[in-house]
Amino acid sequence: MYIYNYKTIGYRISNNLKQLNKEIMSNDNKTIHDFQFELICDYFSRIDRQGPGSLDVTKKALSFITGLSEKSRIADIGCGTGKQTIYLAQSVEGHITASDLFPGFIDRLQNNIKKLGLQNRISAIVADMKELPFSDEQFDLIWSEGAIYNIGFENGIKQWKKYLKPGGYIAVSEASWLTTSRPKEIEDYWMASYPEIDVISAKIAQMEQAGYKCIASFIEPEECWTKEYFALQSEIEEAFLSDHSNNQAAFDFVASEQNERLLYEKYKDYYGYVFYIGKKL
Ligand code: SAH
Repeated sequence: MYIYNYKTIGYRISNNLKQLNKEIMSNDNKTIHDFQFELICDYFSRIDRQGPGSLDVTKKALSFITGLSEKSRIADIGCGTGKQTIYLAQSVEGHITASDLFPGFIDRLQNNIKKLGLQNRISAIVADMKELPFSDEQFDLIWSEGAIYNIGFENGIKQWKKYLKPGGYIAVSEASWLTTSRPKEIEDYWMASYPEIDVISAKIAQMEQAGYKCIASFIEPEECWTKEYFALQSEIEEAFLSDHSNNQAAFDFVASEQNERLLYEKYKDYYGYVFYIGKKL
């Protein structure tokens, strides 16, 4: 298990956010959590995607969703620096509320919104996906790429359902097993970072049990990891390490990210990101 694993830390930080804030406020010295949090944000703020995905995949997922108009209200939860948020705004009508826990990501998205003149189309806010400042039946569409694992897929789709209008859509991408058995090394890796990973049929059943009709699911192609995500990481790692040259945690973190890339290359037949599109009944 990798202590600097981003997935684990994101989960832990959001679980402990209140405690963390208290610790930071009551202590002039930075806590370990605070320190890791800043480091990871710095790393991921340097790239414009914080998980596997691509514009083609966003476009494909969108193609299953009908009936959006300029009156539509869309949420993009765990938006990161918001590459897919911008693309959504450019592809569909309606207003998007993009939210993420990390203020640095939201700042970067705010800058891009201004640069592109999309202020009337997107509001970007800092919010914990566990306690969203949304009203019941506020949205026609809830979007979330590579982020729902932070509260667990099954829990997330259940919790967020109240924010959707009847007949509204949810579109989320989620790490999933592509086969029913797999080598121990990769099984152990995922059990340590996200034990809720499961086969596609199990995720679809969870969606159905949560009260959605599953409209579509599809496996994201390999380039969503290699070209659109890992390649961006490789490009910034040297500069990141040179900016943190005295910091062992930075080296450990980069090593864990590199390990994730090696594992993907070795075991990509067994797992991937899968998009699930559901409609609230
Ligand atoms: N959707 C983006 C980012 C995915 S990475 C993309 O596809 O590129 C997962 C995101 O979830 C990160 O931006 C992280 O900051 C965010 N996150 C982690 N825990 C969270 C929480 N409790 N509430 C909201 N966002 C959270």
